[in-house]
Amino acid sequence: MSTTTESPVDTATGSLQEQARRHLWMHFTRMGAYSEAHEIPIIVKGDGCYVWDEHGKRYLDGLSALFCVNIGHGRADVVQAGADQAKELGYFSNWSYAHPRAIELATRVAAFAPGDLNRVFFTSGGGEAVDSALKLARQYHKLTGKPTKYKVIAREIAYHGTTMGALSATGITSLRQPFEPLTPGGCHVPNTNLYRLPQGLQASDLADKIAERIEFEGPDTVAAVILEPVQNAGGCFTPPEGYFERVREICDEYDVLFISDEVICSWGRLGEWFGAQRYGYQPDIITTAKGLTSAYAPMGAVIVSDRVAEPFMSGTNNFTHGFTFGGHPVCAAIAMANLDVFENEQLLDNVRRNEHNLRSMMESLRDLPIVGDVRGAGYFQAIELVKDRETKESFSDEESETLLRGFLSSELYRRGLICRADDRGDPVIQLSPPLIAGPEQFAEIESVLRPVLEEAGERMQVHHA
Ligand code: PLP
Repeated sequence: MSTTTESPVDTATGSLQEQARRHLWMHFTRMGAYSEAHEIPIIVKGDGCYVWDEHGKRYLDGLSALFCVNIGHGRADVVQAGADQAKELGYFSNWSYAHPRAIELATRVAAFAPGDLNRVFFTSGGGEAVDSALKLARQYHKLTGKPTKYKVIAREIAYHGTTMGALSATGITSLRQPFEPLTPGGCHVPNTNLYRLPQGLQASDLADKIAERIEFEGPDTVAAVILEPVQNAGGCFTPPEGYFERVREICDEYDVLFISDEVICSWGRLGEWFGAQRYGYQPDIITTAKGLTSAYAPMGAVIVSDRVAEPFMSGTNNFTHGFTFGGHPVCAAIAMANLDVFENEQLLDNVRRNEHNLRSMMESLRDLPIVGDVRGAGYFQAIELVKDRETKESFSDEESETLLRGFLSSELYRRGLICRADDRGDPVIQLSPPLIAGPEQFAEIESVLRPVLEEAGERMQVHHA
C-alpha cells in the first residue's frame, strides 16, 4: 500500500478570502453565500469600541463582537497578564490539582456573586457552563435522594448553547430539529415577550406558567429551571415586575434548582456584576462566560450556592464531571486582569450613567414606522421591526429573509456599524456595545441606524398609518 505525505493544501498561495472560503468553516454561517463577488468580512484589528477589516475600513462594534468584548478591543495590558502567567505556569489542570490563578479568580467571582453563591466551577465557555449546570442539577438531586428529577424547564426562543445538553434547554426549533433526538428532559414555557403576550395571558401570569409546567411534568421529574435575566434571543425580553420573585418561590416550593443563565447578562452588561443583582433575585446557580475575560481568552464558569454544593463536598462524593481546560491558568490570569479593568476604570458606573442615553437614542427612532418596540436593559437593547405598527403585524418568513439578509445586515455593515439583525423570533436589531461606550458612540450608531431603517421601511413598504 502506498501512502502520500503530499498535502492538497497550498498554504503559500491564495488570498485570505480564498483560503477562508476554501478551508474555514464559520459557525452558524451560510458558507454558500460567499463568493468572489460577496466577500467574507475579515476583521483584522480592534481598538476600544472600533474594529477594522482587511481593507483598513473602520467599524463601530455595537455588539461587543458577540456580546463579549465588554472592556473594548485592543487591551494589550490584559493579554500581557496571560503572557506573564504562561511564563510562570502555562498550564496545569483543575482535576485533582489547583493553581493560584484559578483559586484567586474563584474567590473574586464568589465575592461579586449574589448571596451564598460561593463555589466556582470553571469551563471554557457558555455552552459548557450550561451543560455543566444541567449535569450538576441532575447529580445534586441524585445525591439528595430525589433521583427521578432530571428535566429542565426553559423558555421558548431562549438560546442556552449548542452542545447536546444545552441544546435541550435552547428553545429555538430551527436549532434543535437538525439534531433530534435531543438529550431528554427539555421543557419550554412562554418567555417574557411583553410586546406580544400570548392571548389571554397577563404579564403577571408568566411566572406561573413555570409552576403549571412543573405540575404537568410531575414535580418529581423536574430538576431545574434555567432563565436569562434578560432573554437575548427574540430581542432582549426583560422580566415583568415580580417575575423572578415568583420564580424563586416556585423553585422553592417544588425543590427545583433555579439557574440564572448569565452568559451575556453578567459582567456589567446590565450595569451590575450579575443580572440577578439588577432584578434582585437569588438563583441557586449562575452560568457565565463571555465578559468574564471580555473574550481575551475563552472561559466560562458555573457559580454554585453553598447549599447546592454541600452534598458534593463530603465523604466520597464528587461532581463526576470536568474539562481539560476548565480553570486554565492563562485564561484565569486574563480574567483577573479583565476584572481589574472593570474596577479601576469603573465600567459598571459608566453603564449606569449612560444606559438612559443609549435607550433614549433608540427610543428616538420610534418615529420610523418600521420600529414596533424598543426594549432591553443596560447596554443590551433591541428594536423590534414590524410591518404595521398599529396592529403589530410582523413580517412573513420570506419578508424577514429579504429584510434582514437581503438588506439590513449587509447595509449596516457597509455603513460601518456592527450590530445584530436577527429573526430567531420576530425580526430585531440588537445593540450591545462595549461598556466603555458613551454618547459619542450612541450618536454614531444613530447616524447609521436611522437612514438604514428609513430605507428598510421604504423597501418593505411600511408606511405611517
Ligand atoms: N447561554 C446564553 C444565555 C448565551 O447567550 C450563550 C451564547 O451566546 C450560551 C449560553 C452559549 O455560550 P457559548 O457560545 O460560549 O458556548
